[in-house]
Amino acid sequence: MDPDGSCIGGPFGPRTPYPMVPMPPTTHNLSVAHRVASMHPSVTVAFGNRAKAMKRAGIDVLSFSLGEPDFDTPQPIKQAAIDAMLAGQTKYMPTLGDPETRAAIAEKLTRENGIAGLTGDHVAISAGGKHSLYVCCHCLLDPPAEGEAPWEVLLPVPAWVSYAPIAHMAGGEVVELPTSPADDFKISPQQLREAVTPRSRLLILNSPSNPCGTMYSPDELRALAAVIEEAVATTCPDLIVLSDEIYEKIIYGGMDHFSIGSIPAIADRVLTLNGMSKAYSMTGWRVGYAAMPGDFGKEFIQAVGTLQGQMTTNICSFVYPAIRTALTKCDADIERMRQAFAHRAEVIYSRLTKIDGLVCPKPTGAFYAFPDVSCYFGRTTAAGRPINSALDMCEALLEEAHIALVPGEDFGGCGKRCVRISFACGEDQINAGMNRFEDFLAKLR
Ligand code: PMP
Ligand code: GLU
Repeated sequence: MDPDGSCIGGPFGPRTPYPMVPMPPTTHNLSVAHRVASMHPSVTVAFGNRAKAMKRAGIDVLSFSLGEPDFDTPQPIKQAAIDAMLAGQTKYMPTLGDPETRAAIAEKLTRENGIAGLTGDHVAISAGGKHSLYVCCHCLLDPPAEGEAPWEVLLPVPAWVSYAPIAHMAGGEVVELPTSPADDFKISPQQLREAVTPRSRLLILNSPSNPCGTMYSPDELRALAAVIEEAVATTCPDLIVLSDEIYEKIIYGGMDHFSIGSIPAIADRVLTLNGMSKAYSMTGWRVGYAAMPGDFGKEFIQAVGTLQGQMTTNICSFVYPAIRTALTKCDADIERMRQAFAHRAEVIYSRLTKIDGLVCPKPTGAFYAFPDVSCYFGRTTAAGRPINSALDMCEALLEEAHIALVPGEDFGGCGKRCVRISFACGEDQINAGMNRFEDFLAKLR
């Protein structure tokens, strides 16, 4: 299996293979483990890598594929890491993070997010939000014992492409809660009420959302919390909410970010996940964290430590002071980047609304637009390629128009009718890319 390559299957069922790097002929009879061989590779990473490879080959590709801010990491953050390295902080550290940084994260979550009862003991630092997700899923889910029903992972879809494969690998059964552009890709309390069962173990929420670019209001989250409170007290005693808030700082729709873990009635049920990649433009640093208050929260974080201790030990040692600097001394940088994203969101939205037939909620958070492009299915490109799916469209866009978008199939639900456009790039690129997109669609027959 090539990591950029094809794979059919995964938790959302059979898929069309991705356009692949050709595989050399097989010269052996060996195989890799089924649980990985059957895993669907990350389509965001796959298209991002393809765009980079085409650029390296000298092709003028405009990439809107990876969710990676184009800004450099703010200087004070870099300096803090350099200083720590020069001062000799280059050895193994405690697995869950150094106590000072765990405490700084607990303080941040208390101060900014209103999550009560957190200390450093309730925080686990990891090598990225994706790593935290992986470890948390493995600490909460088990494959079903014989004769037992699997743990269910309730996932509002479309959702980021890594949730389902990771939850599935940990032994959970992913249950999709469908949404649509008409409801800004958000689930309703009634939908959640109908979805929970005694085997519901995890509800994954991601606001602001990748790939949808929309977010829940505080009142909408309170309404979901009321359903969760009732479910936990009645049919669903094992339910935990994993609230992925990695885009919390990138908001521009007039709505405040709200942490569902700040609602006292369910606070001890909420595992808040976050990381440094997006708000601080630190994707390459690989820092994420998970936090959960209460007695179970502390015990759970210890379990995370056991797993991470057999996996990564600590993260890079001289990064800890940089995390503290980011959390406490970079408000102006965060605001500068937020404003740029807000402006880009306006630009891309105004371009998309001018294209016939696209349906796209206005982005209010993160840096993604997720238009429904299905009215173009059934047509043929100028070069004769049939467009019958989002994957067909993205493949043709890459090959013929040299723009890299991400096909929506792997985000689940109605994502199969959508393409994801990451506008974590400058306005000139957005306009140039939208010119190519418009031109490509206009030429479809
Ligand atoms: N959650 C969401 C919703 C994301 O889009 C990403 C993208 N990378 C992550 C978590 C994980 O990010 P990282 O591993 O870089 O912290
Ligand atoms: N989360 C980003 C994205 O969706 C980075 C790639 C990944 O981890 O999926 O593009």
